[in-house]
Amino acid sequence: MNLDLSPEEQAFRDEVRAFLRDNLTDDLKRGQRRTTSMYPEPETSGPWQQALYRQGWLVPLWPQEWGGTGWSAVQRFIFESECALAGAPLVHPMGVRLVGPVILRFGSEEQKRRYLPRILSGEDYWCQGFSEPGAGSDLASLKMRAIADGDDYILNGSKIWTTHAHHANMMFALVRTSTEGKRQEGISFLLIDMNTPGIEVRPIATIAGDHDVNEVFFTDVRVPRANRIGAENAGWECAKYLLEFERGAGIFSGRLRSQLKRVGDAIAQLKVEGVDVREQTHLVARLGEVCADLDCFEMLELRIMGALLPGQSPGAVSSVLKLRASRMKQAIAELGVEVLGPEALRWCSGEDESDSLLPLLVPDYLNSRAYTIFGGAAEVQLTIIAKSVLEA
Ligand SMILES: Cc1cc2nc3c(=O)[nH]c(=O)nc-3n(C[C@H](O)[C@H](O)[C@H](O)COP(=O)(O)OP(=O)(O)OC[C@H]3O[C@@H](n4cnc5c(N)ncnc54)[C@H](O)[C@@H]3O)c2cc1C
Repeated sequence: MNLDLSPEEQAFRDEVRAFLRDNLTDDLKRGQRRTTSMYPEPETSGPWQQALYRQGWLVPLWPQEWGGTGWSAVQRFIFESECALAGAPLVHPMGVRLVGPVILRFGSEEQKRRYLPRILSGEDYWCQGFSEPGAGSDLASLKMRAIADGDDYILNGSKIWTTHAHHANMMFALVRTSTEGKRQEGISFLLIDMNTPGIEVRPIATIAGDHDVNEVFFTDVRVPRANRIGAENAGWECAKYLLEFERGAGIFSGRLRSQLKRVGDAIAQLKVEGVDVREQTHLVARLGEVCADLDCFEMLELRIMGALLPGQSPGAVSSVLKLRASRMKQAIAELGVEVLGPEALRWCSGEDESDSLLPLLVPDYLNSRAYTIFGGAAEVQLTIIAKSVLEA
C-alpha cells in the first residue's frame, strides 16, 4: 500500500490545517479536551458545527446537492485526522450522521426540504429514541405504542439511555405500530418534536458523574403521521441502515491517537510532580503495545474506508470498525488509569477546573466502559461479523 500523499492531497491537507488555524479557538479546544463522555456539550459542539457549515465541510457523507463535499476517501481521512489531532470538537452526530442519511434515503422530497437544512444549520438538535428498558440488543422487542388517530399517532411508553435528550428539540424514534406477525414488521420510524405535551425527560447519572443519558416518558403524545419516514411498519429498514452509520461511518484513528497523546502528556505532567512512570517497565511495554495496535487499526481504517463514501452502505465493515475502535478506546483509557497508579485516587474527584489533564483520566476510564455497549454491544458486533463471513 502506498501511504504517500499526492501533491493534491498535500495541498488539501494544508488547506485543512489553515482552516483549523483560523477557526479552532482555544475555548473550543478546551471544551473538547475536557469532554470525557461521548460527546461534548452543545456550547462546544454547536459553534464548531457552525464553522464547518459555513465552510461547507460539515457533511462529507451526504450527496453534494444537499451539502456534501464530494471528497475522496483519502481527503475525508485527512480531514478527520487533522481535526482530531488539532483537538477540534466532535460534532453531535445524531442529526448529521444518523438521521440525516435516513432522511436522504427513505424520506419524501418534502421531508428532505424541511429537515435537512435544519440539521445542517444546527437549528434542530436531535436525540435517538431506540432503546427501551426491555429492548437493547434485542431491539425488535421494543414496545412503545403508536396508535393511529386521524392525522396523528398517539404515543405511549418510554425510551431509555437517550443521549442528550435534555438538550434535544427533536427525536427520531422507533415505535410499535402493529403487534401482528413478525416483530420487525410492526415497527415505524417517527420524527418527534420534543416540545410536544406529554413528553418527560428524566436524567440518569453515570458512574463518572456526567449527565449524558436520560429516560424519556411518553403519555398520550400526539405526533403527526406526516412525521413518519417511509411506510407504516417499514421502520426496521430505516433502523438497520441508520445503525450501520452509528457503528462505523466515522474515522476513529485520529481521535484515538489524540486520546493516546493525552496519556503521553499525563506521563510528562506526572514527571514534573516527581512521579517518573518511564521507570515502570511494564507500563512502558503496555504503551508500546497500544501504539502498535493503534498503527494496525489505522492501516485497517485506511484499507476499508472506500466503503464509507456517499451513497454506499457501510455494511458489516461498520461492525469491524466499531468493535476495534471501542476496544482500542478502552485500552487507552485503562492505560491512562494505570499511569496514574495510586495517584488515581487523588485525581478522581473530577471537580478540578484547572487545565490539568490528570483529573480527566479516571472519568475517561469510567465512561469508556460504555463504548462496547452503546451502538450495539461488542458481542452483537461479533455475531454480525461472523454471519457476514459465514454467508460469504
Ligand atoms: C452511554 C450510552 C449511551 C446510549 N445512548 C443511546 C441513545 O442515545 N439512544 C438509544 O436508543 N440507546 C442508547 N444507548 C443504549 C444502547 O444502545 C444499549 O445499551 C445497547 O444496545 C445494549 O442494550 P442493553 O443495555 O439493553 O443491554 P442488553 O441487550 O440487555 O445486553 C446485556 C449484555 O448481554 C449481552 N448480549 C445481549 N444479547 C446478546 C446476544 N445476542 N449474543 C451475545 N451477547 C448478548 C450484551 O453483549 C451485554 O453484555 C446508550 C447506551 C449507553 C451505555
